[in-house]
Amino acid sequence: MKALSTLFRRSFAHGVHPNEHKTLTADLPTQRMPFVSRYVLPLNQHLGAPAKPVVTPGQRVHRGERIAEPAAFVSTSLHSPVTGWVRAIGRRRYPGGTFSQSIEIEADPYATQRLDVERPRSWRTLSLDDFVSVLQDSGIVGLGGASLPAHVKYSLREGVKIKYLIANGAECEPYLTNDHRVMVERTDALLHGIEILQSKLGAEETIIGIELNKPDAIEILNRRIRPGRPIRVVPLRVKYPQGDSKMMIKSLLDIEVPAGLHAADLGIIMNNVSTIAAIADWFGTGMPYIDRMVTVSGPGIERPSNLVVPLGTPVREVLRFCGGSSDDTREVIMGGPMMGTPIASLDAPVIKSSSGILAFTATETARPKEYPCIRCGRCVEACPYFLNPSRLARLAKARMYEEMKRIQVMECVECGSCTYSCPSAIPIVQLIRTAKSNIRSHKRG
Ligand code: SF4
Ligand code: SF4
Repeated sequence: MKALSTLFRRSFAHGVHPNEHKTLTADLPTQRMPFVSRYVLPLNQHLGAPAKPVVTPGQRVHRGERIAEPAAFVSTSLHSPVTGWVRAIGRRRYPGGTFSQSIEIEADPYATQRLDVERPRSWRTLSLDDFVSVLQDSGIVGLGGASLPAHVKYSLREGVKIKYLIANGAECEPYLTNDHRVMVERTDALLHGIEILQSKLGAEETIIGIELNKPDAIEILNRRIRPGRPIRVVPLRVKYPQGDSKMMIKSLLDIEVPAGLHAADLGIIMNNVSTIAAIADWFGTGMPYIDRMVTVSGPGIERPSNLVVPLGTPVREVLRFCGGSSDDTREVIMGGPMMGTPIASLDAPVIKSSSGILAFTATETARPKEYPCIRCGRCVEACPYFLNPSRLARLAKARMYEEMKRIQVMECVECGSCTYSCPSAIPIVQLIRTAKSNIRSHKRG
């Protein structure tokens, strides 16, 4: 009993407890989505500079072949998810409603779609700098949400020594279960990726943080970790946003990462479990990042599923494969319900950050009437970053951006815990998000 009580204390301050809705897909084995006829690959699927095309319209491309190269250090490659022909390079729909420069590929219906790739140099023989550069070719980005090209985190400042590698298996967003399935179905790939990163970074220990609602993942990892390895599985309380990097570090190590510092400055590197498994695929087989694990779920989905989807597949095709969405579907979200983005058109493609495609009906999307703030303080209690969301919302409405900056609006990670907890239905995070975007454009201008 003592062990259990210790486990249940593993968490961070504040946060919320939205309904999980994970049982719709948590136990479903992953299926592979069949190839479709047309793919759209935006060049800006990651933070940093968009990738630069290295193909031209009409060119034949093979599955796994590089079609765009990194344009800067914070940028990564893009590879073809199918064998076929480049049909166009131009502006195409992006999931959030904007348009972005993209490579359009028509699949060859007679091709075998066999992956014909070369393995990169053995990771064991690479210096850390070479490891970073080889990884940049893989196209892998952080799969936990931010989409920072994966290699960037491992380019350490002079003198930084990494003590802990954290594998983030929290997957705290409701509905999403694809990280869960990776831990259960691709346990060996995850452990191989941990071995690679731990060795390259010289980390003393790896901690795998998993919320207690994934007991099978906790059990299988504990069973597969070889005795004596410096790898620990730590179960965590189920709470949102447990998967946020600063919350995870606080929960696992009781360390607070101060504003303006990166975890690496404190000797900690954290990666999502799916990112780590993708790194193992790259170094083990030469498989670049061309397929995304997606949870397709929500009350509007006929057959909720976890799917391996080739990048660039139109959302419409994914929904069709899952039996379609119901007539009363009002909104399709890419990502989780707390931080995801409504999809403006079902022609938008699956991209590297598409962890979920969720269909919601009128019941879930009904916007309750907004009432004045009653100063109940619930949003303040919910905010894991100890901000004052009600004040930020008031200032955002008044467009008082300088004052917002003074009270640390840029620290807000847009987790939505404040909006979720507000009894007056004030769209706090939406107001903050718009204000942050205005502050950024003002700075650029
Ligand atoms: S203010 Fe930002 S960080 Fe705090 S709860 Fe709201 S969205 Fe999350
Ligand atoms: S939760 Fe809503 S009503 Fe309560 S203090 Fe915050 S903004 Fe005001």
